[in-house]
Amino acid sequence: MKPLYQARDRIEAQLLKDFFAGYHIRVLVQGEYLSGAAGELPVIQFPQLWVLEERDYARARELIALFFERDADGEPWQCPKCGERMEPQFQVCWNCGFRRE
Ligand SMILES: [Zn+2]
Repeated sequence: MKPLYQARDRIEAQLLKDFFAGYHIRVLVQGEYLSGAAGELPVIQFPQLWVLEERDYARARELIALFFERDADGEPWQCPKCGERMEPQFQVCWNCGFRRE
């Protein structure tokens, strides 16, 4: 399993999941579940898309770029909190949860 993309919210994550399903690429949405008030559905904070099969990763990156009609490539960045090297499409460090601006 490989981290692919940091979604803005769970709606975007779900859209992308459906989009990838159309290309027979299996992805998983992971994130922090925040429990809402009684009776409310739990909210996923900072949902991340993971590619289940690593062989699909390169193709998935191309499709992400296609989905947003822009180049997904940018400068990788290093998390100032834990030092983890992050792919440019991530806004939140998957290791420690640090959020960059
Ligand atoms: Zn970190």
